Amino acid sequence: MLKKYTFNSDINGYQVLFLGAIHGNEPCGSQAIFKVVEKFASHSIFPLQGSVSFIPICNPLAFERNIRQIDENLNRIIRPYALPQTYEQHLAVELVEHISSADIIIDLHSTSAPAAEPFIFSDYPDKLADQIAAAQNIKYIIKGWPQIYADHNTIQDFSTGNCAHTYGKTCLTVECGYNLDPLSIQTAYHVIMNTLLSLGILEGYPSLPVKQYNIIMDKLYIKTQSGRLSQEFHNLDKIKQGQTIAIYQDGTSIICPQDSYMLLPKADAKVNDEWFYLGHLQNN
Ligand SMILES: [Zn+2]
Repeated sequence: MLKKYTFNSDINGYQVLFLGAIHGNEPCGSQAIFKVVEKFASHSIFPLQGSVSFIPICNPLAFERNIRQIDENLNRIIRPYALPQTYEQHLAVELVEHISSADIIIDLHSTSAPAAEPFIFSDYPDKLADQIAAAQNIKYIIKGWPQIYADHNTIQDFSTGNCAHTYGKTCLTVECGYNLDPLSIQTAYHVIMNTLLSLGILEGYPSLPVKQYNIIMDKLYIKTQSGRLSQEFHNLDKIKQGQTIAIYQDGTSIICPQDSYMLLPKADAKVNDEWFYLGHLQNN
């Protein structure tokens, strides 16, 4: 059973659920959640309306071993299972229950790239998701993930966001920075507080947000044969039209079709795996 902490007010309002360590080697969400839970538990803060719940460690065994997953990527398989087979499928069954009984889900992650800039995935943006995203001190909001996956029906995307959307709930996934950077804990902590402040669940105002940029994902590039990226790329690097991005062993290459942002590059991707995505800046 996943450990869940809930703090209720007496007044009707949103039920907000924060998730940590869907991936076991991403401790920032868990640590930030424990800090906030302590504040609620000691009554130094309390919900003015609705309720706040936390599941600090969504993949306990992987968290204990400090690895991403035990059997499979939990954030691709969150749906009901009549007969769960893998460790993560058992977790998924529980998470579906929790996600479907909340109104707003904030899923806290970090990434394996050192010095990674925090960003938000808003996969199914709605008014509430936009409001919460706008209250964050995070510069980049990436949209369009489900559309990308709809084009690649071989890859399944039963993520927390997808699960929430299935039940008509609002969800944001926040990548809080590098796995091992203590700043990622700070970022996750501010995400929790700014979310609750922006919803009026805590008293006060969210910190003044930074100027934000919406990046729309255009295309997923699968590594179709052995090859390499043309240089070391980082998430959100700007790429110029005509720039060579990747070179295959047979001499062919992938050229950037238009000025783009590099998204989630995986230098060590295996053949037939996701290699990188390109996106563009939405004019806002
Ligand atoms: Zn993650």
